[in-house]
Amino acid sequence: MVEKYKNYINGEWIADGSLGTFKNINPANTDDIVGEFPSSGKEEVDAAVAAAKEAFKSWRLVPAPKRADIIKRAGDILVERKEELARLMTREMGKILIETRGDVQEGIDTAYYAAGEGRRMFGDTVPCELPNKFGMSVRMPIGVCGMITPWNFPIAIPTWKIFPALVCGNTVVFKPASDTPASAVKLVEILEEAGIPKGVVNLVNGTGKNVGEAILHHPDVALVAFTGSSEIGRHIAEVCGKHLKRVSLELGGKNGQIVMDDANLELALEGALWGAFGTTGQRCTATSRIILHRKIADEFIERFVQLAQNLKIGNGLDESVQMGPLINQRQREIVHNYVEIGKNEDKAKLLIGGEYLTGGEYDKGFFYKPTVFVDVKPDMRIAKEEIFGPVVAVFTVDSFDEAIDVINSTSYGLSSSIYTQDVNQAFRALRDIETGITYVNGPTIGAEIQLPFGGVKDTGNGHRESSHTVLDIFTEWKSIYVDYSGKLQRAQIDTYEE
Ligand code: NAP
Repeated sequence: MVEKYKNYINGEWIADGSLGTFKNINPANTDDIVGEFPSSGKEEVDAAVAAAKEAFKSWRLVPAPKRADIIKRAGDILVERKEELARLMTREMGKILIETRGDVQEGIDTAYYAAGEGRRMFGDTVPCELPNKFGMSVRMPIGVCGMITPWNFPIAIPTWKIFPALVCGNTVVFKPASDTPASAVKLVEILEEAGIPKGVVNLVNGTGKNVGEAILHHPDVALVAFTGSSEIGRHIAEVCGKHLKRVSLELGGKNGQIVMDDANLELALEGALWGAFGTTGQRCTATSRIILHRKIADEFIERFVQLAQNLKIGNGLDESVQMGPLINQRQREIVHNYVEIGKNEDKAKLLIGGEYLTGGEYDKGFFYKPTVFVDVKPDMRIAKEEIFGPVVAVFTVDSFDEAIDVINSTSYGLSSSIYTQDVNQAFRALRDIETGITYVNGPTIGAEIQLPFGGVKDTGNGHRESSHTVLDIFTEWKSIYVDYSGKLQRAQIDTYEE
């Protein structure tokens, strides 16, 4: 029996989708059907937006600390159900259990951090230039927020958006990726159990084309918060721009790790392995480029290749497995297509991998071998474009300055890292690398939720999720002047009149 999941609209769980149903399969074992979901479209989005619009009227008036109490309770329930959620997530998404536990943990961290904001959300009080006049700024909620999320962090990324948005007093229409809808349903169940009033959070399952587009074009959606590819992000920015909707975009990455000649090589190897092949390379912050100083390049490459070949690949539910499958066959084809491009590009050399992992149980999933290209040059496509798979491009450079030029030579700007023992080099790198996140002596992955998350250049449009900076996405400022002088006072005029 395949489990049947539902949409959640105006406080009701609704089984039927106006466009039928779709199935969600386990990418490590395609015989395993995780669930059947309503395939929705404009009809459901209209109902969800109407519910969210109505609920906004009262939710915005609930004191922020009370709204935050509900998010705190959601965090507590996530703690209780962490293991169950991690196992379901591994089944539907493929990444290994320690990573899906980390994904749920990120949701827990976000819940507690966002709940704390319910009693902060600082504004300013400032002196006014006229006597008997008071000035302050406060954060105001924006309204109905459309949340469109990808499949690689099925709980963490939705919580980054939904929890702070709710604490700020907004209401939500949530469209999760159709590759990971089960985790999304569980998250909304948890919010319901935590006490979210009806209509405040609505979940609509279905494709980007059917559900996502309906959200973008709906006149009552005031804000769209999107995480996904730069290609779809551009389109979303265009549509939202036309309607002057608020829009935050967290997009792709082509992250690099620099290893200088004075680096602790053990540490740099361990970091590169985790950064490149964690989540099977399907992280926006994955290490898809390694930039090696020539003096250590040969030794690093030899040892890195050996470590990569020894990774245990398989079903992430097996605790001994180190790397799971790709999310679906389409993603495997995209990855393989890039490998073919790389093989045909001038002078890049494929050292290991470059093919499907097949045979036995592997035939039931979307497995791909860890793949390493060396002698890569910055102008090649495998050096510039996001591949989103276990494929690493290795560059060799002769100096620190050349390493910085190489790392900055993509249009993306999400994460970066440098391994060096030289504090001067480390600080120059922190200053000169064009990314939103830089690690020193750590891999390109591993963000914590109390610091801003996001990127420069084509990785986004200037917003930062996580941290208190997320409040800038989900609120607008109101400046307030209270004149208690009992007379008309004219700013800029009366103050300076002789
Ligand atoms: P994607 O194809 O852009 O999809 C992301 C979401 O957008 C999905 O829910 C998708 O729905 C939906 N969507 C697709 N077309 C749409 C449209 N025309 N209108 C509205 N919504 C639409 O990305 P993905 O493959 O899921 O995720 C991988 C990408 O996300 C990578 O580029 C990665 O770097 C990026 N990412 C960025 C961050 C970050 O914070 N910077 C974090 C994680 C991932 P369906 O798939 O259900 O159709």
